[in-house]
Amino acid sequence: MDTAEDPMDRTRFPVDPWRLVETALDPRDAGKTETLFAVANGYIGMRGNPEEGRPAHTHGTYVNGFHETWPIRHAEEAYGFAQVGQTLVNVPDPKTIKIYVDDEPLTLTMADIEMFERSLDFREGVLRRRLIWRTSAGKRVQVNTTRLVSLTQRHLALMTFDVMLLDGDAPIVISSQLINRQDGRDDYATARGADPRKGYAFERRVLDPQLQWAGDGRLVLGYRCHDSRMTLAAAVDHTLTTACEYTTSTSVEADAGKQVYTISGRQGEPIHLEKAVAIHTSRGVPVRELADRCRRTLDRAAREGAEHIFDQQKAWLADFWHRADVELPGRPEVQQAIRWNLFQVVQAAARAEVQGIAAKGVTGSGYSGHYFWDTEIYVIPFLTYVLPQAARSAIRFRYSMLDAARRRALEVATQGALFPWRTINGEEASAYYAAGTAQYHIDADVAYALDKYVNASGDTEFLLDEGVDILVETARMWADLGFWRGHGDEQFHIHSVTGPDEYTTVVNDNLFTNVMARFNLAKAAKSVRHLRESNPHGYLRMATRLQLGEDEVEEWERCAEAMAIPFDERLRVHPQDAHFLEREVWDLEHTPEELRPLLLHYHPLVLYRFQVLKQADVVLALFLQGDKFTSEQKLADFEYYDPITTGDSTLSAVVQSIMAAEVGYHEMALRYFYTGLFVDLDDRHANTSDGVHVASTGGVWSALVYGFGGMRDYDGRITFDPRLPAAWESLIFRITLRETLLKVVLSQDRIEFTVEEGVSTYVEVRGEGVRVRPGIPISVPLDGQGPRRHGDVGRSPLVGGRRQDGSVITASVPRSDRP
Ligand code: BGC
Repeated sequence: MDTAEDPMDRTRFPVDPWRLVETALDPRDAGKTETLFAVANGYIGMRGNPEEGRPAHTHGTYVNGFHETWPIRHAEEAYGFAQVGQTLVNVPDPKTIKIYVDDEPLTLTMADIEMFERSLDFREGVLRRRLIWRTSAGKRVQVNTTRLVSLTQRHLALMTFDVMLLDGDAPIVISSQLINRQDGRDDYATARGADPRKGYAFERRVLDPQLQWAGDGRLVLGYRCHDSRMTLAAAVDHTLTTACEYTTSTSVEADAGKQVYTISGRQGEPIHLEKAVAIHTSRGVPVRELADRCRRTLDRAAREGAEHIFDQQKAWLADFWHRADVELPGRPEVQQAIRWNLFQVVQAAARAEVQGIAAKGVTGSGYSGHYFWDTEIYVIPFLTYVLPQAARSAIRFRYSMLDAARRRALEVATQGALFPWRTINGEEASAYYAAGTAQYHIDADVAYALDKYVNASGDTEFLLDEGVDILVETARMWADLGFWRGHGDEQFHIHSVTGPDEYTTVVNDNLFTNVMARFNLAKAAKSVRHLRESNPHGYLRMATRLQLGEDEVEEWERCAEAMAIPFDERLRVHPQDAHFLEREVWDLEHTPEELRPLLLHYHPLVLYRFQVLKQADVVLALFLQGDKFTSEQKLADFEYYDPITTGDSTLSAVVQSIMAAEVGYHEMALRYFYTGLFVDLDDRHANTSDGVHVASTGGVWSALVYGFGGMRDYDGRITFDPRLPAAWESLIFRITLRETLLKVVLSQDRIEFTVEEGVSTYVEVRGEGVRVRPGIPISVPLDGQGPRRHGDVGRSPLVGGRRQDGSVITASVPRSDRP
C-alpha cells in the first residue's frame, strides 16, 4: 500500500504495529471511536466511552446473549412467521468515573486539554488514556486511566484511574458510578429509521430493578428483563490508594450506585483508584444468586490484585499472538490494521463460550446483538486454526440450539433441523423471511464449520458425541426441502431459498445453497458410514438417539450426487440461481454514490428484479467449495459477478479478495483486501458506530491466509498455492493442526514451513507433497522446483504436478492482473 492509499489520518491515529493510538479526541466521530476502542472478551463488552461519560454517541456495556424479548407484530400475519423479537440489552454502565477539581468537572469537549492520548494495546489487552487537563483556575491535572475486560476471567473487568495535581493543591472529588443509564435501551437505536442494520429500539422500561446493595466500596445492582425474564447482577469494587487525606461516601438506589471520594489533593501526590467490575447473567438463576457470584468474582480479583490481572491478560495474549499473529514485515501501517482486526475476533469470541458470536461481537447494538452465519463462515475458520477451543465452543453453541432448530424445521415443513437465520435464544428472530429464514444455507454453513474444525483439530470425540447430530439433522432438512422433479429430470432441486446475496431472494436452485447442501449431505453420509465402520457402539448410540432410518444415508448420497448445479452453456458461467440470468443487469457503474448502499435507497422489489448483488454469492461458493470447480469456471464466474457486486455488505470484500487472488487479479485482490481491512478503521460503511463488523475482521485473516497465502483445506488436506502481492516482501503466519503448530513464512520466491510445536505434519504446495518434521524447517521454492530442506535438499516426497481440479501446475511465475 502506498502511503497515499492509507486511509487513516496519521496525525490523529499514528502508526503503531501493536496499538491503535489516538492523539486527539474528536466528538464528531465519537460513535466510530467508541467502537474502535471498545474492550471485550466475547462475554462482556464495553464501548470506548470516556470515563467522564461525555462526549458520547452511545453509552454501551453489553453482555453476550443478555437480551429482552418482544412480540414481533407483523402488519399482515402468516403461518410460521417469526414471533419473538430478541434484542441485546444495554446493561448498567460500570465505566463512569467523574472527576472534579476545585468543583470543576472534567468535560472532555470543553476542557483545556494539553495532552491527550488514547490507545488500545493488542498485546496487553488494555485500553489506556493519558491526558493533562488545565482547569479554569489554571491548574494542570494529570489523569491516566486503563480499562480491560479479562480474557482469563470471563466475568471480570478492571479499570484504574490515576490522578496527580501538577500545579498546587486543590480539592478533588472522584465519583465512580454503576448506573443504569439507558435502562437497557440504546439511544442510538431510536434513530434507526429505515436502516435494518441497527438494533431494535424499546419504548418501554426493560430492566426491572431487583436488588441494590452497597458497602465497603462495593456496589451491586440486580435486574430482571421484563419479558425475557433473564437476570443480571453487576457489581463494582473500589480501592483507593493515596497519601492525601480523603473521605468516602457510598450510595445506592434502584438505577444508580455511587462511590464518592472527597480528597484533599496535594501537588505531586499520586491518587490511584482501582475499580473492579463483575457481571453475571442467567436465564433462570435468581438475581440474588447472581449477586453472590459477582461477590465471589470480586473477592477473587481483590485477592489476586490488579497487577496480577494485568499480567494474566498479557500472558493470555502473548500465547494468542504466538499462534495467531499474521506478520507483514516492512508495512507497519498495514500491520497495525491487521492486528486490530484479529484482536477484534478475540474480543468477539474468546470467552463467548455457551453463547454465540454476534455480528457485532459485544461492541455495539447493531443487528440487535444477533448471531448469524457470519460466525460459521467468517469467524470459525480463523478460530479453528488459532484458537480451536473457541471454535469448538461456537459449534457447541449451535448444538445447544438443535432442539429449537428441530421445532423450526417443523414450522417450515421440513424434517431434521433448521437453524434460525438470526437469533439470540435459538428462536428465529428474522421478521423478514425473504432475506431471513429463506437463507436455509445456514444449515450447511454450520456443517461446514463443524467439518473444518474436526479436520483441523482431530476432535473426533466431539464429532461422535454432538457433531454428528448436527450433520444428520441438517442433512435430513436438505433431503426433505429439495425434491425430484421427475418427468425425465434426474436432478435434485432446492426451491424457494435465498442465498447469501440478499438483493435476490426466494429463488430456485441458488448455486451457493445447492453446492453447500451437496457438501452437507455428502459429509453427513460419509461421517455416518465412517462411524458405523470405526465405532459400531458409538454408531448404535447415535442411530438410536436420532432414530436414523436404514435408507436415510443412501438417500442423502443420492440427493448429493444428483444435486442440480445451474450452469449456463451460452455464457459459460454458473447462474446465481435458475432464473438469475434472465433478469435485467443493474448499471452499477452509473449508480451515483449517494444512492449507495442500495438497500437504503431502493424498495427490495426493485433490487430483486435486477442482476445486482449485495455480496459475494457464487464467488463465495467458488471459495468454500473450490475443489468442485475448475480454474476456468472460477475465472469466468468471477469475471461475471464482480462487476455486478456492490459490496453493500461488509461480508463481501474479503471474499472477493480471496477469489481475485486465486483467479489471478492480483491488484484487485489487494484492493479488496484493503477495503475489508479498513471497513471499521475507516468507517467505510458509515455504521461502525453500531459496532465492529466481526465477520469482516475474521475475513481479514481469511484474505491473508486463504487469499494471499493460497491455503486451502478441502476435506482435511492442507494445500498452498501462494500469491503474495508483488509489493509485499513476505507474510508470516501460523496454523494449529491437531497438536502441531506450523509456522509458514511466505516470500516472493519461496514458502517455508517450520513445526514449532508438536509432531510432523504434511501439506502440499502447488501439488507437491511436503512433510515437515519438528526441528527441520523446509523451504519450497516457488519457481516450480521441488521442496528443499535446510541442509537436506530434495529428499521430500513429490506427489505429482497437478492441482486438485486436474489442471497442470504452471504457477511458478507470478501472475499479473488479468486484462
Ligand atoms: C448480510 C448478511 C449478514 C448480516 C450480519 C447482512 O448485511 O447481508 O450476510 O449475515 O449482515 O452481518
